[in-house]
Amino acid sequence: MGLLDGKKGVIFGVANDKSIAWAIAKRLKEEGAELAFTYAGPVLESRVRPLAESLGVKIVQPCDVTNDDEIEAVFNTLKDEWGGLDILVHSLAFANKEELKNEFLQTSREGFKLALDISAYSLVALSRAAAPLLEVRGGSIMAMTYYGSTKVIENYNVMGVAKAALETSVQYLAEDLGKKGVRVNAISAGPIRTLAAMGISGFRKMLDIVEQKAPLRRNITQDDVACTALYLLSDLSKGVTGETVFVDGGYNIIGM
Ligand code: NAD
Repeated sequence: MGLLDGKKGVIFGVANDKSIAWAIAKRLKEEGAELAFTYAGPVLESRVRPLAESLGVKIVQPCDVTNDDEIEAVFNTLKDEWGGLDILVHSLAFANKEELKNEFLQTSREGFKLALDISAYSLVALSRAAAPLLEVRGGSIMAMTYYGSTKVIENYNVMGVAKAALETSVQYLAEDLGKKGVRVNAISAGPIRTLAAMGISGFRKMLDIVEQKAPLRRNITQDDVACTALYLLSDLSKGVTGETVFVDGGYNIIGM
């Protein structure tokens, strides 16, 4: 018997087999969940479809989260196919590369809007579209964030501001959806080498510092995150909502 037998979940954010969303999908599948995947545009489709197939995922749909029609289409499909939904994973973010290397002071209006739209507002848009389906049985939403939301991290810049907005959105959404039995939480992960992470200048340095300073004296893996995601997305955390849980080897507790 799996922890998620009979549960249905939609995963936003698989780009390749290094994606945190992919590790989460594998854990959820192992515990019995039936999954749907989305991909952000035609370039990623060819990478995502084979991964989906390997897990027996039948629903695979395009969804650029800046496109309301694509969001609506995903949830229409899930309504038709499943009638209800138990799990929504938001594991996506984007900022222009130049915003992740210059001083934060240089952030452009367009760059700021784009980063906040894709990385933070999308959680609100997806949660609203998913709410009628998640309310059927009482579901769980989780999003991915990073410590740069509350502390200044070199080059993280506008993404830190977007993650602050995302974490506060998790709290407001938890209050709105809690009345309907839907929980909303976030995982704040330590640095992991993925496609998105490679866009941050000096990323290697972040890995070195965590390895030296974190209480566990190692970097975390995608599977470390996936195990905590399983907790947040299953009934193991049935009394938990509005939280940001650190999966960072303890790095965030260290002062000096
Ligand atoms: P990744 O590159 O594998 O995943 C990022 C995903 O964002 C991709 O699937 C991409 O398609 C998606 N995306 C970008 N723009 C989109 C759009 N307009 N519409 C829909 N999807 C879009 O990298 P990852 O590291 O697995 O990132 C997943 C999440 O984890 C992100 O929120 C990231 O900020 C967060 N996170 C990553 C780290 C890390 O060090 N890797 C640490 C903490 C938090």
